[in-house]
Amino acid sequence: MSDGKITIKTEFQMELMRVAGELVGKTLKMLEGMVKVGVTTKELDEAAEEFIRSHGGVPSFLNYDGFPASICTSVNEQVVHGIPSKKVRLKDGDIISIDCGAIVDGFHGDAARTFLVGNVAPEVRELVEVTKECFFKGFEQAQPGNHIRDIARAVQTHAESHGYGVVRELVGHGIGTNMHEAPEVPNFVDVRMGRGAKLIPGMAIAVEPMINLGSRRVQVLSDGWTCVAFDGKPSAHYENTIFITKNGPEILTNPIE
Ligand code: MG
Ligand code: MG
Repeated sequence: MSDGKITIKTEFQMELMRVAGELVGKTLKMLEGMVKVGVTTKELDEAAEEFIRSHGGVPSFLNYDGFPASICTSVNEQVVHGIPSKKVRLKDGDIISIDCGAIVDGFHGDAARTFLVGNVAPEVRELVEVTKECFFKGFEQAQPGNHIRDIARAVQTHAESHGYGVVRELVGHGIGTNMHEAPEVPNFVDVRMGRGAKLIPGMAIAVEPMINLGSRRVQVLSDGWTCVAFDGKPSAHYENTIFITKNGPEILTNPIE
């Protein structure tokens, strides 16, 4: 964690962050090709670590607060922070959220996608699609002069218009030489947050809607990491690291189209 100050990146630092972001985007693209019925989440984790290291990066999740893997793999009702395992084998109809972070030259990239495994129920497909849309609704608001609350409100409004639950216990964040820096970037509006920090060029933030098909309530399993929807219904996650620039927001972690 940083000391709570928002860091403004120089042009040179922004170039370094683009490299880290691109590696995270490429890693997720590689993993997307591996996601199919029968693959274990451990195999995905091993492939991610190998890919990141062979491209000059370090997996930033590995050993973060003791996390035992290079990516988080969260299946179905798991919201975030699922631990890869040889015992978790993807089945037809599953969804899997993969969260990935890498450090290159001291700077972090952080992104997440939810992928479909085989034939996924229409209502769950829609959840995955709308969660991605929520990111882009927030992204459109990441303009210089706007505030964090503008992003939060856009994400929440879109998710709740579909009747979904917006997770509140976990939020997006500033990012730079630390994976988690100020400011917090919630996906909901709360009277206590006020307008939130003003967005200014050179800020880097991770915007990451975590959206539940049912209730927004979550709990952490006894492994101390895995965050699941309390009602057991599916949950989706979509995240990119972005810059605020004078010309508007820029995605660093190549979205997969
Ligand atoms: Mg992440
Ligand atoms: Mg993040």
